[in-house]
Amino acid sequence: MIENSSLWVVSDVDGTLMDHSYDLTPAKETIKKLQKLSIPVILCTSKTASEVKVIRNDLNLTDPYIVENGAAIYGESLEKFNGEIILGKKYKLLEEILNHISNEIDYELIPLNNLTDQEATDLTGLKGNSLNLMRDRHWSMPFLNPPSFLEEKINICCKKFDVDIFKGNRMSHLLSTDSNKGKAINTLKKYSNIKNIQIIGLGDSPNDLPLLLNSDIKVVIPGKDGPNLNLLNQLKDLEFILASEPNGYGWKNEINKLISKLELI
Ligand SMILES: [Mg+2]
Repeated sequence: MIENSSLWVVSDVDGTLMDHSYDLTPAKETIKKLQKLSIPVILCTSKTASEVKVIRNDLNLTDPYIVENGAAIYGESLEKFNGEIILGKKYKLLEEILNHISNEIDYELIPLNNLTDQEATDLTGLKGNSLNLMRDRHWSMPFLNPPSFLEEKINICCKKFDVDIFKGNRMSHLLSTDSNKGKAINTLKKYSNIKNIQIIGLGDSPNDLPLLLNSDIKVVIPGKDGPNLNLLNQLKDLEFILASEPNGYGWKNEINKLISKLELI
C-alpha cells in the first residue's frame, strides 16, 4: 500500500494511538476511514515486532511497521528485503555498551528485560504473555530512566560508543546512532520510490522528535495530564498541531480534521 499513496500517516503507538491502558478503540473507526482512502497507517514505535503484530491484527493493518524505536522495519510488502530492514545494532552489543556506560558513570543502568515480571508489570502495566512479547527485543535496549543529574555524563559516553539515548515517558532507549524513528521513515520513503511523499506524523514524547521532524504535518498528542513539556520545548520554533484531547481521542480528532481539510473526503 505504501507504493500507492503519496500521503502517509506515521504514528507512535503508546500514549499516542492508545492510552496507557492499551485501549485502541477510540482510533479504530478513523483507521478504517484511512484504509478506505488507501492512506497507509505506518506504526512507528518503541515496541517490539512481536507486540506490534498483535496490534496490526487488531486494527487489520497491512502496511509496513517500524519497531524498536526505528531500529527495524518489517512488513510483508518489503519483498526486496525479505520483509525486514535492519538499521540498529544487535541487542547483545547494546547490552555490552550499556554495561560500559554503567561502569564509566559508576551507576548501574538496568535493562528493562532484566526486571522481574512484577517489576515490569508495575512499570508498564503489561502482564502474562504480553511481557514475553515485550521482551522479544533484537535491535534496541530499553532501560530504566537514570537520575537526571547523570544525563550529561551519559550523553558524553554515548558519543564514544556510537549510540544515542532517547528518553520516553516511562523508560529510556539505547540505540545505534544509525537508527531512530526519523531515519527509519526516510529509509521507508526511499524504498517506496514515490516522489513528494507527505507525512502526517503523530507522537507524544521526546523519542518521537525524529518522527515529527521528518513529518510534513506534526501532531503532538497529549496524555491525560497534558502534553510532554520537553517535547513541546524541542518543537517550539516549528509549526505543529497540539491535539485538544488525550491519546486515541486526540489522534482520531486531528486525523479527521486533517483529512477533511485536505479534501480527501
Ligand atoms: Mg509514545
